[in-house]
Amino acid sequence: MRRIRLEGRPFRFEGHEYLRAIYDDTSSHVVLSKAAQIGGTTWAILRSLHACLSGLSVLYYFPTRTDVLDFSKSRVTPLLNDNAFLSKMMTETDTAGLKRIGDAYLYLRGMQSTVGMKSVPGDMIVFDELDESPPAAKAMAKERLAHSDYKRIIELSNPSLPDYGIDEQFQKSDQRHWTLRCPSCGRWTAPVKEFPTKLGEEVRIILPRGDGSFYLACPACEGELDLAEGEWIADFPGRPTHGYRISQLFSAKVDPGEILEEYRTTRFPDRFYNLKVGIAWADRERRLDVAAVLSLCSEAPMVERSDHSCVMGVDTGKELHVTVLRDEGEKKHLIHLAVVHDFGDLDALMERFHVRRCVIDGLPETHATRDFARRHPRRAYLCFFNEHQRGKPKWDRDSFTVQTNRTEALDASRAAVRDKQLVLPRQQPIVEAFAQHMSADAKILVEDADTGAKRYKYIRTGPDHFSLAITYGLLATTETLKRARVWGRR
Ligand SMILES: [Zn+2]
Repeated sequence: MRRIRLEGRPFRFEGHEYLRAIYDDTSSHVVLSKAAQIGGTTWAILRSLHACLSGLSVLYYFPTRTDVLDFSKSRVTPLLNDNAFLSKMMTETDTAGLKRIGDAYLYLRGMQSTVGMKSVPGDMIVFDELDESPPAAKAMAKERLAHSDYKRIIELSNPSLPDYGIDEQFQKSDQRHWTLRCPSCGRWTAPVKEFPTKLGEEVRIILPRGDGSFYLACPACEGELDLAEGEWIADFPGRPTHGYRISQLFSAKVDPGEILEEYRTTRFPDRFYNLKVGIAWADRERRLDVAAVLSLCSEAPMVERSDHSCVMGVDTGKELHVTVLRDEGEKKHLIHLAVVHDFGDLDALMERFHVRRCVIDGLPETHATRDFARRHPRRAYLCFFNEHQRGKPKWDRDSFTVQTNRTEALDASRAAVRDKQLVLPRQQPIVEAFAQHMSADAKILVEDADTGAKRYKYIRTGPDHFSLAITYGLLATTETLKRARVWGRR
């Protein structure tokens, strides 16, 4: 604090009080799972330079050589230029990948280069942007510490998936959380633990002030928490590795109102959780993202008719959202998307695409829907969601209905995207709308207030008509009417 200058100004902890204990931590293995722009990399560089000044050689790893060069040019060189007492100690060499400081060396290396991994011994290793690095390379890099008496390891990264990379390391650590004492009621709160881990929930830890601005609130009394009055509290004190999780929730540089707004509107929950809240997050089970859906686009144009038999799924409402699929066994090709306004249009589509089976939602149950099904006997079925219908959907030829479990049916259509069973036509506005609708359904765990029983359900976070239409379309591809079950003696 006496000597270091950053970007021309004296080094200060103001607004970053949570960093003080991390700078002071001399443990031999420190893990930092961090949100974006909270000062983590600056800490890692300063720690590295400090180690060099103490005579320890440091290997600072980035995922790729390009990352190293960028980092050296944009972060390390300006820091040395800002601090004459450091640059004065640099001797001999000043290349992007190697700096000699005092009697020690700072090596900057890319993990993907095997040349970069070999031959250099060190006392301290830093893995920056760990989650972007190949996991196998890490073990190899750690070999470099074999001959050192110090063997210090620092790992830092934005988290990505749960139990992967930095999150895996954090889970093994003593798991420290920045915990704030409420000035009003005295209760201790760890903001990251209080923030909802899924979308669509009430955020009790960010509340509006009278003037419309937002503050970090005590969940017990709604009092305003002071970001600077905190302590790192470990969930597993005594574990040798010290793990810190840094969130923008307790950065004085980030407006809590902005975090709240992003929570409510984001279409990229993984990025929101990884970079803002600073926790690992998997969208695989809970929600698709638009990019994942669009990655299924082919070069095929959308077609207006088909000579092969197809299946169709229709979501009803003010408008009728239609998906037409060609079933090619393993792959289901979405060949037509449409928004039409009356059932006559559906009749026309039934003919143009030789639709052998159409599933249309049964609710609200209207004359128009029933009449449509009657006009296409054994081809059109009304779908009713039934929470008690588990496993296979129940088809009924007499009432031309199919009953299925809503969560399971939506699971199946998400799975078709994740497993790349679905092939989309070439990207165009209606296909983009389709992708938006697919990402609008988020899976959440709900608890019955009376019984405590938990179950998953999908909530709609935006228009999702095509998401239901494709769910019905895929339901139509499941052939269970072919034969009656045969009961025999074993
Ligand atoms: Zn309180």
